[in-house]
Formats: sequence, structure tokens, C-alpha cells
Amino acid sequence: MQKQTVAFSKNSSNLFFHILTKCNLSCTHCYINKDQHGVDTLDIGTIKKWLKLFANRPVSDKNNPKQALINKNPADKSMVNKAAQTNVIFLGGEPTLHPDLHLAVKEAKSLGFKSITIDTNGYLFNNILDKISCDDIDYFSFSLDGATQTTNDSIRGEGSYDKVMEGIKKAVAKNFSCSMIYTVSEKNFHELELMEDLIKNLGIKRFFIQVIGMRGKSSGSKGNFQVSKENWLKTIPKTAKKIAGHGIVVTYPKVFLNNDETFQCAGNVADNFFVFPNGRVYQCPICEDFPLHSLEIRGNKLIPTQKINEKDLFKLTIPEGCVMNKMIQPQNLSYNKVGEPYHQIACCMLKEEIS
Ligand code: SF4
Ligand code: SF4
Repeated sequence: MQKQTVAFSKNSSNLFFHILTKCNLSCTHCYINKDQHGVDTLDIGTIKKWLKLFANRPVSDKNNPKQALINKNPADKSMVNKAAQTNVIFLGGEPTLHPDLHLAVKEAKSLGFKSITIDTNGYLFNNILDKISCDDIDYFSFSLDGATQTTNDSIRGEGSYDKVMEGIKKAVAKNFSCSMIYTVSEKNFHELELMEDLIKNLGIKRFFIQVIGMRGKSSGSKGNFQVSKENWLKTIPKTAKKIAGHGIVVTYPKVFLNNDETFQCAGNVADNFFVFPNGRVYQCPICEDFPLHSLEIRGNKLIPTQKINEKDLFKLTIPEGCVMNKMIQPQNLSYNKVGEPYHQIACCMLKEEIS
């Protein structure tokens, strides 16, 4: 068994593509904010054009001397293409509600994206399993937020537990590679340990533990649903290791940095793009409740936005680590008598992986 901190990838980028914001569910922690992200469903023509904007784009040379050389020498097409690979994750709302999702997947495939994933709540609308093959995509990623029907359905809605389990079984039976996402909060933290028994024979290959972010619906709700540092450190690494013992690759966010670890903001050193149907493109997911996007798509072109935007925040250095965390979810910070933070909060995109 091997545990490693997955450094931000400097040789590939990630496109988190929200092709619509419509959803059949209404999860209590949903991060979609229609005031900020719009209500549009992108038509397939627009999806294809926007995919092209991110396909084979040279990876930026942020902190990466080798990449700087490659970007200076674009004539060497073999190097550029190798370096420029982007992973695409189709998201919503619920992406399978889009009647042309299968065409979007096939377009991404023909454009040479490094990997293709569909994140779904399990309802698998529009017969998506019959319209694409397991050679077309790398993963279907299913969301489940409780080991029991009672807990999951209290967060994700009545009937969603049965639907997601049924969806996983159908996808596995058709040989699709499947993963699962469990968003940990105070509401379902106590059931994470039960997930080992539930998923060990389901046929999923990867298990992602996520931490609830105070954005979207969570930011407007009363109370703090974030798990305390003590509970997080006591439970998450141990449970992740147990699940990985069944041959499932487990990934979870680092959240709290040890004193000997260096803070890095992914916005400064990696290429992640969170694209919404209204054309906003963020590089930091926890900025998404605000008009702080650093790029936008206008006339099918990717254009930098005016200051002040998220990039100005990425440059700030504070003792607490992530600036956005301190601004929108400071509940997870604690200080000693002289006002120094006990720990830094890692970038939300820094992960531990056990394989
Ligand atoms: S399934 Fe996803 S998009 Fe739909 S309500 Fe739940 S969290 Fe939001
Ligand atoms: S979560 Fe924090 S550290 Fe990560 S990209 Fe956003 S601002 Fe930077």
C-alpha cells in the first residue's frame, strides 16, 4: 500500500465543465449558485466550441522551467501536444440531463483529451449507458453521501440512495470504470467507516473523499457543517487506508498542513478551469460564489477579466495558508495566545492518495 501527497500536476490541466446547472435533485450542500452560474443549458454546438478552447492548449509555464522551454518552442508539435493534455470532467447540475452528453463525450474523445469523466448523481438520464461505450470515457463518478439510505437521502433527497446504487451496478455490468465521491460533513461523518463494507464488492475502482465547502447552499445555511480538525485527522486517513486495502484507490483532501509542509496555491502553480454555462471560468473552486473569475468565454474566445479577480488573491501570502479559506470559511482556523494560527489550511485541491 502506498500513500502519497499528489502534488499539483504541472504537465496536465483539468477542465471542470458544467454544461448545465439544471438538476433533478436538491442536495442540502449543493454548490451550484444559479445567481452566479446562470440557468442555461449549453447547446451541443457551443459545448464543442468551448471544448476546443481547452483541448491541446499549451500548459502554462508557472513555476515549470521545462514547460517554459516547450511553450517558447511551439514549432515542436510533438512536445506541445504531449505537454498540453487536459483531463475533462463533465458536470452539472446533473450532466446526464443533457440530451447530447454522449455527443459531447465523443467530441472530447476526438479532440484528444487525456481523460474523460462524467460526474453523476446516479440517475443516468437519457440512456447515457447505451449511447457511449466504456472505450469513450475513463470514469463514471457517482456521488453518495451516506452509508445508509436514511443519512444519504436526508442530504441528497428521497430515493437517491437506491438510484445511485442501481446506477453503479448497471454501469459496472456494462464494464464502465466507476468511482464514488463522498462529501464529508458533520451530517455524515459518522458513517464514513461503514463505507468500507458497502463498497468493497461494488466494483468501483476509486473512492474520493471530499470536504464540504461553505459555498452554494452551505454558505447560506445556519451552523457549521465542516468536520473539526480532531475528527478529520482521527478518522479520514484511517478509513481511507482500510478502503484502499480492498484494492480501491482512495483520495482525500489534505486540508491541514503539518508544520514542516509548504503551502502552495494551485491558482499559482497549476491549471484548473471551472467553466460555467454563463461563460465564467474560475481557477479556484471556492471563489465560485463571487464574481471573482479570472477568465470568461465571450464570442467563443477565452478572455482574461478585469482586476480585481481571483488571481489577485492567489498572490497574497498569509500565515493561515489559503486566503479564500480565511475569507469564507474561517471556522476551521484556530490560533494560539499570541494570535498565530496552529496550522495552515492547504489548498482545497491538494490531495493525499492511497493506492
Ligand atoms: S446532484 Fe449535484 S448538482 Fe444536483 S443538487 Fe446534488 S450536488 Fe447539486
Ligand atoms: S483554494 Fe485557496 S489555495 Fe487553492 S486555489 Fe483557491 S485560493 Fe488558492
